[in-house]
Order: sequence, then C-alpha cells, then structure tokens
Amino acid sequence: MTNVINELHTDLYINGEWVTTQDKKDVINPATGETIAQIAQANEAQVEEAIQTAHEAFSGWKALELKERVTYLHKIADLLEENAGRLAEIMTLEQGKPLKESKLEVLSGAESFRWNAEESRRLYGELIPAPNNHKYEIIYEPIGVVAAITPWNFPSGMITRKIAPALAAGNTIVLKPSGDTPLSALAIFELFEQAELPKGVANIVMGSSKEIGQAFTDSNKVNKITFTGSTPIGKALYEQSGQTLKKMSLELGGHAPFIVHEDADIEAAVKGLIAAKFRNNGQVCIAPNRIFVHSSIKDKFMDKLVPEVEALKVGNGLNEESDIGPLIREDAIDKIKQQIVNATDKGATLVTGGHRLTEGEYSNGFFIQPTILDHVNKTMDIFYEETFGPVIPIITFDTIEEALAMANDTEYGLASYAYASDSSIIQQISRTLEYGMVGINEVAISNPETPFGGVKHSGFGRENSHLGIKEYVTAKFVNTQF
Ligand code: NAP
Repeated sequence: MTNVINELHTDLYINGEWVTTQDKKDVINPATGETIAQIAQANEAQVEEAIQTAHEAFSGWKALELKERVTYLHKIADLLEENAGRLAEIMTLEQGKPLKESKLEVLSGAESFRWNAEESRRLYGELIPAPNNHKYEIIYEPIGVVAAITPWNFPSGMITRKIAPALAAGNTIVLKPSGDTPLSALAIFELFEQAELPKGVANIVMGSSKEIGQAFTDSNKVNKITFTGSTPIGKALYEQSGQTLKKMSLELGGHAPFIVHEDADIEAAVKGLIAAKFRNNGQVCIAPNRIFVHSSIKDKFMDKLVPEVEALKVGNGLNEESDIGPLIREDAIDKIKQQIVNATDKGATLVTGGHRLTEGEYSNGFFIQPTILDHVNKTMDIFYEETFGPVIPIITFDTIEEALAMANDTEYGLASYAYASDSSIIQQISRTLEYGMVGINEVAISNPETPFGGVKHSGFGRENSHLGIKEYVTAKFVNTQF
C-alpha cells in the first residue's frame, strides 16, 4: 500500500464522525490487481442514521446566511486545489486512469464548487403580474435531503458535480459512491471535515448498493435522488421511488455517434476522436462509440487515424508516459472482447488491436489494446450496445440523411458529435440529432457553465450550468393579498 492510501480514512462519515464497521470490502488497483485498501460497509441502521442526520442538519444549513454557505463552498474549492496532486494519485490507484486525467478531474471539481457557490447568489425568484391588491411571487427553496449514487468511471467528478449544487442550494447530502472507487470520495469527505462543514450536512455510506439504494428510495426523509450510472440501475431506482415520489435526476448510459462528413477537416476530426474516445480508456458515458465516416473520405481518414491509435502507450496510469490505463475490472475486458468477437464473426475487419495485454508490466492488470474495427454494421452487438472501452467501430455512409438516421437509431440520447464545414449541413445535423448534447467540430462538451445531460434512455435532468442548480430547488408560489 502506498502512503497516500495508508493515511486515508476508510470508514463511513456520519454526522461529522468517522464510523467504523465490522464488515469490510477490498478496493483493487486495476493496473496491478493488488488490494490497496479495505473500506467499511454500512449496515441498515447506519444508512438510516446517515439519512436522519442529514434530515436534522437541513434546517440549520438552509437557514445559514448565504454569504456563509458561499464561504464554505469556496473553502472546499481551495482545499481541492491544494490537495489536487494527492487526490489524483488516490484516483489513479483505485481507478487506473492516467495521473494527468485524474488531476484535471479533481481541479474541475474545484471549479464546480466555485461555480455553484456563485450561482447560489443568483437563485432569483420571480414576480408575476397580479391584481393591484395582490403579490404573486415564486421563491426557489432547497428540497431537503439529497441522496446521491455515483459510478466508478469519474470517482471524483461525478461526486463534486452533485454535491456542489446540492449544498449551494441549501440541501444536505448522503452519498453512496461506487464500491469499486470509494477512496476518492473518502478523500473529498476528509476535505469537508477540514473545511469544518457543519455536522450532518454531508454524509457518506458505503456497502451493499442494492440495500442502500432501497433505503434511499423507501425513505420519506430523502427528498431527491441524483444518480449517475447505468440505464438498467437508473430505471430500477426510478421504479422503486414511485411510492415515495422522489424528485430525481438520472444521468445514465450513452452511445455517442461521431459523424465525419465529406467536407470535414479530417485532421481535426481524428484529433477530436482520439481525445474523446481514449479519455479514461473509453470508459466514459459521452465517449464516441459509433464513428460514421463519409465513403469519399474514408481512406484518408483511416490513413491518419490508424497510426495515431497505434502510437498510444498503454500502461499503469502512475507512469507519466501512459496515454491509457487499464479497464476497471476483469469483466470489463470480457465484455469488450465479446463485442470484438461478435463483430468480426459477423464480417467486421480488425484493423488494429483487439487483444488483452498479459505480459510483463501488464501481467496482473486489466489491460487491452486500443482497437479499430472497420465495416461495422447494424447486425453487430457493438452497433447498439454501449461500449465501455477503447474500441473504435467504423461505419461508412453516402448521404448525411443516412448518417443521421443511423446516429439516432439507438435507445440512448446523451452526447453526439459531428465534423463538417458547410453551415447548412451543420444546421441540419444539430437540429436532427436526438441527443442532449451536440459537439460540432468540437469534443469538449462538459464545462461547469454548460448543461450536461441526456434524453431517451440516457435519463433526464441537467448537471452543471445555471440549469444544474435548479435541479436542487423547488419552486414555491406565494400569493399575498394586501
Ligand atoms: P452502475 O452499475 O449502474 O453503478 C452506478 C452506481 O450505482 C454505483 O454506485 C453502484 O454501486 C450503484 N448501484 C449498483 N446497483 C445498484 C442498485 N441495485 N441500487 C442502487 N445503486 C446501485 O454503473 P457503473 O458501472 O458504475 O457506471 C457505468 C455506467 O454509468 C455506464 O452506463 C455509463 O454510461 C454511466 N455513466 C453515465 C454518466 C452520465 O452523466 N450520463 C456519467 C458517467 C457514467 P456499486 O458500484 O457499489 O455496485
């Protein structure tokens, strides 16, 4: 075990105290297969206690002078920035992504706290025209206790983008991070403690995801669930919440199309594809998963793409020269291999990669080569299934209508991308794509000030931006007669 992990708390954090448990779970480094920590697993009573604590802390946190709440949030942002190096190392050890990506993720979390701190000052109400002796007003108020459930692929970013707006709007929190990557979450909670956040305002529980999810959805003291993760689990939580009628935000799976039109800047398109596809080794809900290339430029596009992919260095994320790290678990490798075999069995060509790396430095980790599949079509699983790994499937098209129809032929609707020059084609693309986000000649689509979220089976609700904080308030109408 390295020092950054030895020094870390591994217990639950409830009502401002670290709470230990009998039951523990191993955390594995996916680059080495080693157990790097054992974390506490909450029982039912401890989960209830965390919810109760957040419920009791709500009235005090809500009533705090806005200036004071804003100061806490800026303090947390300062601490995230000061500790970015340490938090990045913890993240790479438990999740595998290259250190530089981990550091950017921690710093973007600091930005989330700053953005939402300032946005909380602008949660303006509204006055509605009313008869002379009346005042009609809308006041935005915090919801109460927010329960957050987050995935392993962004162990820090998925947490900060929920907790920052929730706290900024005056809510309290109970977080359940992914069991695969709880250490980044614990490191963030240590910073909450250092920031002297009032007791009970932010709590963390780890343990059986099914049981904790059920406790959240069943509790009348939980007023909102914010979930990022797979579509099937999001749907289950939605269904479970029917009896207690929770406000919900669901950030679910994606299967992003990436269209390269005949008039695209091919070099820019290849650069954008490499950046978006191989970030976090393709384990990203907004990663391009189906690459539609116009047949007239296909050869030129491939000539540029293939050497770029072959030059990527796979390795332990702690090594500075690694461009891509391991996948998260053994079963993630199996799933990618199945998709590759299914595609090649049905006629796809393996252009490069496709194999697990098992020798030397790779022997105990979950490493796979970056892969390009050509001649992919709708008969293959990879056309419809979310791909959570470093695989580029190439599909050719002849007309933009054909490309757009294929791009929309999915249950998902999170992110989409296109490279083109003609302004009328760009307009047609951005209007026709059935997605929550569209990147045109650009793959950077996630910023604190811009809305992030999906349609269709990718869920609902928006994170980041001025819309994000609105997910954590309720509109109260007051009609006053004078
Ligand atoms: P997952 O299996 O759905 O898990 C997500 C979270 O839900 C984890 O904390 C998990 O806990 C928990 N969970 C699992 N089963 C549960 C249950 N029955 N009740 C309550 N909670 C439960 O997803 P994942 O594999 O971690 O993440 C990958 C997925 O997330 C992909 O589909 C990806 O597209 C999606 N994602 C979406 C976005 C977005 O913004 N739209 C962003 C990132 C990722 P344990 O890990 O402890 O089991």
